[in-house]
Amino acid sequence: MKKKICILGSTGSIGKSTLEIIAKNRNDFDVILLSGNSNFRLLISQAKKFKPKYIYCSNFYLTKKIKYFCIKNKIIIINDLNLLKKTKFDITIAAISGIAGLLPTLNIIKFSKKILIANKESIICGWKFIYKELKKYNCYFTPIDSEHFSISKLIENKNRNLIKRIYLTASGGPFFRKTISLKDVTPNQAVNHPNWKMGKKISVDSANLMNKILEVIEASLIFNFPINKFKIIIHPESLIHAIVEFRNGLASMLYHNNDMKIPITNALYENFSINQMINNKFSFKKKLTFYNPNIRKLPSIRILRLTEMLNETGFILINVLNEMLVRKFLNNKILFTDIVYKLLSILRSKIAKNYLKNNKIRHINDVFKAYNFCRSLIR
Ligand code: NAD
Ligand code: MG
Repeated sequence: MKKKICILGSTGSIGKSTLEIIAKNRNDFDVILLSGNSNFRLLISQAKKFKPKYIYCSNFYLTKKIKYFCIKNKIIIINDLNLLKKTKFDITIAAISGIAGLLPTLNIIKFSKKILIANKESIICGWKFIYKELKKYNCYFTPIDSEHFSISKLIENKNRNLIKRIYLTASGGPFFRKTISLKDVTPNQAVNHPNWKMGKKISVDSANLMNKILEVIEASLIFNFPINKFKIIIHPESLIHAIVEFRNGLASMLYHNNDMKIPITNALYENFSINQMINNKFSFKKKLTFYNPNIRKLPSIRILRLTEMLNETGFILINVLNEMLVRKFLNNKILFTDIVYKLLSILRSKIAKNYLKNNKIRHINDVFKAYNFCRSLIR
C-alpha cells in the first residue's frame, strides 16, 4: 500500500527535495498534505502535480491567493492542523524553517505514525514537548538533519557507555580560508553555500558556524548526551557527516555524497522493508581533510562555552535571538559580523542571565514568553 505523506514546508529546500524523491517513486507514496507560507505559485504547481487532499496554510495572504485553485480542484485548505481529525499519515516531514515550525510540528505528531524532523529550531526550542507527544501517540521519530541522521545510524545498537565523543562536521561555509573582510559580507554572498543548496536562514547560519552550534544543541537533546560530549570539526568536502569515537579505540564515520536526498530517502523507507535503491552515483574522493575551527575567525563557538546558558531556557534564547539577528542581516539592517557579536553580547548581559534565573520552561507558552523577551531585546 502507498504510504500517506504529509509535508510541512513543502515549498522549501527540504520540502522540494522530498517531493523530488516522491515524484520518482509514485507507486510507494501518496501525498495527502502540502504546506507553504509565501510562494503560492510553487505551492499551486506542487498541488497540481501531487493532488493532495489538504493544503495547510496559516498565512492569510497565501490562503487568498490559492483559494480559487483549491475550490476548483477540491483541495481543502486548513489553517489549523486539528481539523485533520481522524487522518493518520504514515510519514510526516517537518521542514518549516525556524521556530515557526514548533507548533505545527507538535500538532502534527498525533496524526502521524512516523515523523522525519529537519526543523532543528523546533527541536532546540521545544524538544521536551515534542518528545512527550511522540511517546503519547507512539509516533516513530527520525532526525533528517544529515549529521543527526548519521549519528543515529552510527550509534544504533551500540552500548551508550562505549561512546566517548561525537564529532559533527561543518563545511566551514563560503568564507573558509578566504581572505575576505567578514564585516563587508553581503546577504547574497552569505547565502551562497559551497556544498549545499539550502534555505536562506540555514545558509547564513552555515556561513558563521551558528548552524553547527545549533546542531550541537539539537544533538545533545535528541541523543541525550551533555553538550561537552560533542565536538565541531571543519571538513570542507562535506562527505563525512558525523564521527563517533568509542572507548575501545575504534571510531566510526558515515560517508555519503552531500545531497540531502540521501538521508531523506533512507528515512522515508526506514522500517518499511523495501529495498530502495538511491540513484545517486557514489563518488569517492581520495582526499578528506579535517581542521579544528579557528575561534578567532568563528567566534560563535564561544556560545558553547557559556555554560550557564546551556539549559532549556538558554537554548531558546540562543535560537530565537539568532533567528531575529539573521533576519535583520538579510534585510540589510546589521552587518554579517554583528549577528554573532550582538548575540554573544546579549547572552553575556545581566538581563539575559536574570531572565534565565527566573524563567523555567514548564509549559509550551513559556517558550513563546522567552520569544517575546528576545523580541524586546532586538529592535
Ligand atoms: P527554506 O527556507 O528553504 O523553506 C522553509 C519552508 O518553511 C518553506 O516551505 C516555507 O514556506 C515554510 N515556512 C517558513 N516560515 C513559515 C511560517 N511562518 N509558517 C509556515 N510555514 C513557513 O528552509 P530549508 O532549507 O528547507 O530548511 C527547513 C528546515 O530544515 C530548517 O529548520 C533547517 O534548519 C532544516 N535543515 C535544512 C537543510 C537543507 O539542506 N536545506 C538541512 C538540514 C536541516
Ligand atoms: Mg546539518
